[in-house]
Amino acid sequence: MELTNGATKAGDWRNYERVLLPPIRNLHKLEVYENEANGYNRLRDVLENDDWTPESVTNEVKASNLRGRGGAGFPTGLKWSFMPDPDDRPRYLACNADESEPGTFKDRQIMEYNPHLMFEGILIAGYAMQLDACYVYIRGEYADWIRHMEAQLQKAYDKGYVGDNIMGTDFSMDIVLHKGAGAYICGEETSLMESLEGKRGYPRYKPPFPAQKGLWASPTTINNVETLAHAPLIIENGGEWFANTGAEAHPGPILYGISGHVNRPGVYEYPTGMLITDLIDEVAQGVIDDKGIKAVVPGGCSVPPLRGDGIDGVTMDSESLQEAGSMLGTGGMLILDEDTDMVSYLRRVTHFYQHESCGQCTPCREGTGWLERIVTRIDEGEGNMRDLDLLLDLCDQMEGRTICAFADAAAWPVRNTVKRFREDFEAKCKPSVHPTGADLSAAGA
Ligand code: NAD
Repeated sequence: MELTNGATKAGDWRNYERVLLPPIRNLHKLEVYENEANGYNRLRDVLENDDWTPESVTNEVKASNLRGRGGAGFPTGLKWSFMPDPDDRPRYLACNADESEPGTFKDRQIMEYNPHLMFEGILIAGYAMQLDACYVYIRGEYADWIRHMEAQLQKAYDKGYVGDNIMGTDFSMDIVLHKGAGAYICGEETSLMESLEGKRGYPRYKPPFPAQKGLWASPTTINNVETLAHAPLIIENGGEWFANTGAEAHPGPILYGISGHVNRPGVYEYPTGMLITDLIDEVAQGVIDDKGIKAVVPGGCSVPPLRGDGIDGVTMDSESLQEAGSMLGTGGMLILDEDTDMVSYLRRVTHFYQHESCGQCTPCREGTGWLERIVTRIDEGEGNMRDLDLLLDLCDQMEGRTICAFADAAAWPVRNTVKRFREDFEAKCKPSVHPTGADLSAAGA
């Protein structure tokens, strides 16, 4: 299969040729990856061609303007360049495969259908940052994919693509697959490192950032699966190709995960910057029973939901979504139809965060419990109008007051769901009644 060298703009998505998940049968097998997808030739090029130095590989990734696909969108080339010059400490990569954000199921597709692209990307990153080893931290629930990747990784070791003196060069690097134990917080990069070190997955303070002090206090970079899978494609097609694909400020191919009330949910590879309406109406073949859209959550349940009547013209890239009042996050889109009760939606979301808070910071440990209890009370018809202000006040007490971004991620959907879908909440709330019997709700209480 020849990869597309012509960059595809978002508006031309119908002519896009898939590169992360190309339509090749049995691509997960090493021999198919080698023979039909140019497999490991980008690594060979990087290792054997003198034009590629660690700096020039990093610069190519910088030129591509690849932004991390785990959710935060941090520029990948810049992150790689944060690694200090080699000293006597080992140097690590952690590939974050702990995909746990509700509505997000795209890294799984790479691990199942194209695992060698991820391994090749890891090795190219390893050369660029002069690393010794990579730990792939995989969500424990992905047990089937772990077994399957173990088999494929062994084949790559047997073929000399991983391990000592890769392809006969003086570059050596190991890849270790590590199974998580089902804690959402272990996808947060510093908890992930704690967990890999055998400790409880409590987030660490940043700074120091992982490049300065990461795994076992050594220089470490953490990148998402999809982010790393882009590296071979950037080496093969050039940073310019990537930068010209999709939306200018947030370019490249991307895996959109579409779920909820649509006729054809799934993971779809297209350029960034596609219209949300194209993704729903054409890619996912519309809303079930042709109903209207109540809400779209564009990038995993941590990001603010958009009202269905506000999605026209909004595209799937960080700039457009920010303007619309949300974020690209993981690109996992949840579509909720007009009959959805947003109180009941938020009850599920708050339960998730209450259950997954690691409990290290008080505002998060206590705040997530309060959020869940209040939303549950409203959902069961026992809340009153004052509870809505209490929810917003609680969000203020949580955001920016904890070690990691978990509390922010728990507060954002609450704040924005209550503000944007207030009518659903008011319909379930009793009026606020003072002990004297006075109705306080009209006074905005
Ligand atoms: P972040 O913005 O704090 O950091 C993003 C990355 O950039 C990190 O690797 C961080 O070390 C690096 N970075 C940021 N500022 C830096 C600096 N000044 N110097 C050096 N490095 C710097 O975000 P985060 O807490 O890592 O991630 C939050 C996001 O994760 C959310 O937006 C959410 O969408 C996403 N998320 C994804 C999943 C999933 O399953 N994929 C699960 C939960 C959350």
